[in-house]
Amino acid sequence: MLSSILNRPKGAPRNSNPVDASSSSSFPPQTANSAAIVTPVQDAALAQAKTAFLNQSLETLHEVFPGVDIEEVRRLLATTSEESRLYVVTEILLKSRRGRAATSATRPGPALAPWEKFRTDEYQKAVQKALNKEFRGLSKATIQAVLAEHNFQYSRCRETLSEIASKSWRFSLSNLFRRTPRAEDLPNARQMPTGSKELDDELFELGRPAREAQIAGDRKIAALLNEAEYAAASALFECECCFGDYAWEETVACSVGHFFCHTCLRRSVQESVFGQGKSLLPEKASVACLSSTAQPPCQEFVPADVLRAVLPEDVYHSLEDRTASESLEKSGLQLVRCPFCGYAEVDELQPYRIRRPVAALGGLLVGTIFFLLPYGKQVFLLLLIATFTFPVSPTPHLEKALRNIALRRRGALFRCENTRCKRESCITCGKEWMPFHKCYEKEEDAARIFVEKAMADAVKRTCPLCHLSFVKSDGCNKLTCPCGYVMCYICRADIRTVGYKHFCQHFRQIPGTACTDCDACDLYANEDEAAAIKNAAKRAEEEYWSRCKKPKGMRWKGVHAPGEGVVGAAGGGGWWWWWGVEEVWEWVLECAVVWV
Ligand SMILES: [Zn+2]
Ligand SMILES: [Zn+2]
Ligand SMILES: [Zn+2]
Ligand SMILES: [Zn+2]
Ligand SMILES: [Zn+2]
Ligand SMILES: [Zn+2]
Ligand SMILES: [Zn+2]
Repeated sequence: MLSSILNRPKGAPRNSNPVDASSSSSFPPQTANSAAIVTPVQDAALAQAKTAFLNQSLETLHEVFPGVDIEEVRRLLATTSEESRLYVVTEILLKSRRGRAATSATRPGPALAPWEKFRTDEYQKAVQKALNKEFRGLSKATIQAVLAEHNFQYSRCRETLSEIASKSWRFSLSNLFRRTPRAEDLPNARQMPTGSKELDDELFELGRPAREAQIAGDRKIAALLNEAEYAAASALFECECCFGDYAWEETVACSVGHFFCHTCLRRSVQESVFGQGKSLLPEKASVACLSSTAQPPCQEFVPADVLRAVLPEDVYHSLEDRTASESLEKSGLQLVRCPFCGYAEVDELQPYRIRRPVAALGGLLVGTIFFLLPYGKQVFLLLLIATFTFPVSPTPHLEKALRNIALRRRGALFRCENTRCKRESCITCGKEWMPFHKCYEKEEDAARIFVEKAMADAVKRTCPLCHLSFVKSDGCNKLTCPCGYVMCYICRADIRTVGYKHFCQHFRQIPGTACTDCDACDLYANEDEAAAIKNAAKRAEEEYWSRCKKPKGMRWKGVHAPGEGVVGAAGGGGWWWWWGVEEVWEWVLECAVVWV
């Protein structure tokens, strides 16, 4: 398995045939004409391909050893010679204890971030040049060390260097007459390219918040100036919701011309989408008019194009999602929802039919009853037949069972089709979908641990002096703790002074039977441990589920005691209760239904 993963070219299926090791892991590929002339362009392409190849190896190793420190893997790959590099590093990792532990991890780790991968020479050089220029007061060695520390990631290196610079007297001295670089004064890559497109793009992205803040600030000043102009000309509009005065550009109108300000509109939409607001109009994909002065109250809405222009993008999309899902809900159809956004899909039940033999059997049964009963019961029988033959049974249990079977057939994975979300979730429990997803795993684990602890406690005795816990495996019921404390296993009494006299001293004809002369504890009697464990489990289970609400759809099957099968409330009754009504219906339907 390991070797097939190692040899797998990126993107190829896992079960592809392993290819020859030497051909796949040596780079660059050996060409027949090794004396070819290499131009600078080819040189750059070659370097780039080399980095790409190293990154591919890094990703493969990260996949196989998800728990191993990526810096360590990078170092190993960088210091191993090209020839069968992947194999050498794999060998080293397998020999190390952490590497072996990492392969046994069942969950794949998160994907590698760009800054964890090998960077191209071009990027490294550009970052070094940019930082040397920016932090002239710091020594080259310091910068070099920080670069190595952060794998040449520009933003991380810059942060650390700024921190060092703020503490360094040498830096402050040399910058006495120069402006110290501030966090927001990033080099402008659009005016002065750094020589690496990757770094240019990164710089542009890093500068985005500052640019946006600048634009927002400018807009605010422009709005204030505009408002002042309107005020001077006495041409301000009054908001019919908050009664403030606003410039024309700061107001919107409903479809019949009631004016209100942007702030009021935004607040109203946010309140309707995320809060308790009642002004949402799902059929119009909008909100109701906000005018509080209109007589009679205005029944109109705010046009969609106005909403799009005024609302922040995320609020507008949330409004769209919310109105769409409300409309769907009003349709009364069964829906599947994305738990992360408002996206919903109609959960159509796959067409099915009742198996012919089952239908025939049912018909025969109904026919027999029909002939046996007097004619007055015909109406009742017709109703019965209708119940069984109607495509979606009105019996909620039946429909639920059918849906459960359908869900098992298609799997519980739900892919959100909302382009802004696209997340994957589990239909059954509504949690984010991960590889090896198990519904209610955390809840079940918590409940199981609680019950198991109670079960262990049921047979455990603890010394009140030294708090050492022990379980009696065999022997008598006089427990002597290493600290000297002596206790009766049955009644937990302190028997340090009385010793064996605590126990029944009478002779019994048949060993193991109860004494007829006294009710003192029996030295050799074994408590019914299985019953004690079972009772403890039952009590703990009841206590747990009365304190923590059991999630809807979770099937709690109780806890297994060694050699005892299932214990606890779920295992208390016969097979019928162990299964539950829904499961019985599911079983019946699995036998009776064919999906078409
Ligand atoms: Zn207002
Ligand atoms: Zn209106
Ligand atoms: Zn979604
Ligand atoms: Zn789930
Ligand atoms: Zn003790
Ligand atoms: Zn006792
Ligand atoms: Zn006795």
